[in-house]
Amino acid sequence: MKRTSHISELREIIAMERRRGRKIALIPTMGYLHRGHLALVEQAKQTGAFIVLSIFVNSLQFGPNEDYSSYPRDLERDAHLVEVAGVDALFHPTSEEMYPRPMVTYVEVGQLDTVLCGVKRPGHFRGVATVVSKLFHIVQPDLAFFGQKDYQQYLVIQRMVSDLNLPIEVCPVPIVREEDGLALSSRNVFLTSEQRQEAKVLFQSLNEAETCLQAGERSAREIEKQLRDRISRQCHGVIDYVEVRDAGDLSEVTIIERPVLIALAVKFGSTRLIDNKVVEVDRYV
Ligand code: AMP
Repeated sequence: MKRTSHISELREIIAMERRRGRKIALIPTMGYLHRGHLALVEQAKQTGAFIVLSIFVNSLQFGPNEDYSSYPRDLERDAHLVEVAGVDALFHPTSEEMYPRPMVTYVEVGQLDTVLCGVKRPGHFRGVATVVSKLFHIVQPDLAFFGQKDYQQYLVIQRMVSDLNLPIEVCPVPIVREEDGLALSSRNVFLTSEQRQEAKVLFQSLNEAETCLQAGERSAREIEKQLRDRISRQCHGVIDYVEVRDAGDLSEVTIIERPVLIALAVKFGSTRLIDNKVVEVDRYV
């Protein structure tokens, strides 16, 4: 595996692979890798492309009171994991390399960033779209892989690519979970053992919401209410949001007739967990 923290060196590595006729796949991450990230690598490998995985904790997407400085980092462990997983090049730039001077240029994806996490984390998606856009320009990938764990982020990137005519195929990867259903996240390490136990209620309540839909419930507000009630009853987590929205564009839904995203964010102490489920109602009519 090639490994570099320099943009110029990465560009040389990629140019050589392109000359050999290889397609390039990019997997952007913030590191502290787990099986969720490795599922992205697995899916990328199936395309036969040259796989570039980036690790960069992007200050631009963290709010002033968020966990940028405490975000877990372990570059050597990550490097070992991705080498074993079959990544071809690891790009781990410093902040100085990515942001040599204060940014005055940003990428903003409207509408999609005004709901769900966009409301709770102002500026977050601007930071994400800007850094992913920079990575897209640096790597110029043919394919880019994003997990559905961050479903809103996936839609934001897909829309950015479409609006800006970027010649990149954005490939979604299903959520990878622990045995009890908790979605894998780098932030799970911050949970105390009680919080970790309680956190499984998130997936259970998403499943329950799906069962409600299966049984014929079509009111988005009723589904949200049941989810909220269950989460408040069964754990000490503080709900940031629980919402049912259109799975295609995150618009508001009252009566569920099209595929919906059931999304939630819950804080366990200072650890904020997100999870979601896409439910295709047509299957149950
Ligand atoms: P992060 O390092 O948290 O920024 O995540 C990097 C990429 O991995 C994003 O596209 C995430 O959606 C994806 N990812 C993180 N956790 C999971 C998971 N549990 N299942 C699937 N993809 C994930």
